[in-house]
Amino acid sequence: MINRREALKRTALAATALTASAAWKVVRAQNAPPVPPAPAPTGPFQLPPLPFAADALEPAIDAQTMTIHHDRHHAAYVAGLNKAVTEAPELASRSVEDLLRYLDTVPEKVRTAIRNHGGGHFNHSLFWQMLKKNVGTGPTGALAQAIARSFGSLANFQAGFSKAALSVFGSGWAWLTLDGKTLKIETTPNQDSPLTHGRTLLLGVDVWEHAYYLKYQNRRADYLAAFHSVINWDFVATRYQAALA
Ligand code: MN
Repeated sequence: MINRREALKRTALAATALTASAAWKVVRAQNAPPVPPAPAPTGPFQLPPLPFAADALEPAIDAQTMTIHHDRHHAAYVAGLNKAVTEAPELASRSVEDLLRYLDTVPEKVRTAIRNHGGGHFNHSLFWQMLKKNVGTGPTGALAQAIARSFGSLANFQAGFSKAALSVFGSGWAWLTLDGKTLKIETTPNQDSPLTHGRTLLLGVDVWEHAYYLKYQNRRADYLAAFHSVINWDFVATRYQAALA
């Protein structure tokens, strides 16, 4: 039996929980993703919504490519990661960053799955945020100075970045990373993440064919030229400053 005071307390708690839940729904509605919702997550890792409408980067990246890339490919990496952690449940409470950064601490039976699907999830989660339409001509501030210092000029950086991205044989990524305090252009095969090599990811371009084939077919160079017009340099600069701080 509960006494009256206890009953009142429980009612008040229930009311508070209901209010919080209702408020959450309002926030969710206002921030609803502009693309159809992804399938319900079946594990601890979840597909983040695209931070823009699927057609926001037209014509550089077309809406159909963006939708399939996010709703199918990225979702498949999340599903694969969730499946992997069902085989090693002790990993489910760790962040994907932590799993990739300390990949050698992941049990061997799921290490390849975490590397591929965890890498795919992490790389794509950042990739969406690295993109934005009408972002001006390039980086500003400390990042602009660092790029000029490291590569000579923004144009040199762009050329070097595209050259690296073109050099990826098959599927992979090209990156602008921070190795300590040094800016580097690097590439990784498949979904390997520079995070596993101790790098900070600043900017990346996905050169898997699924990222461009519908619109550009085999013209990866044209995709890369367009990519340079939709880089969210504010996001890259914020990551640069956070890494140096
Ligand atoms: Mn991709």
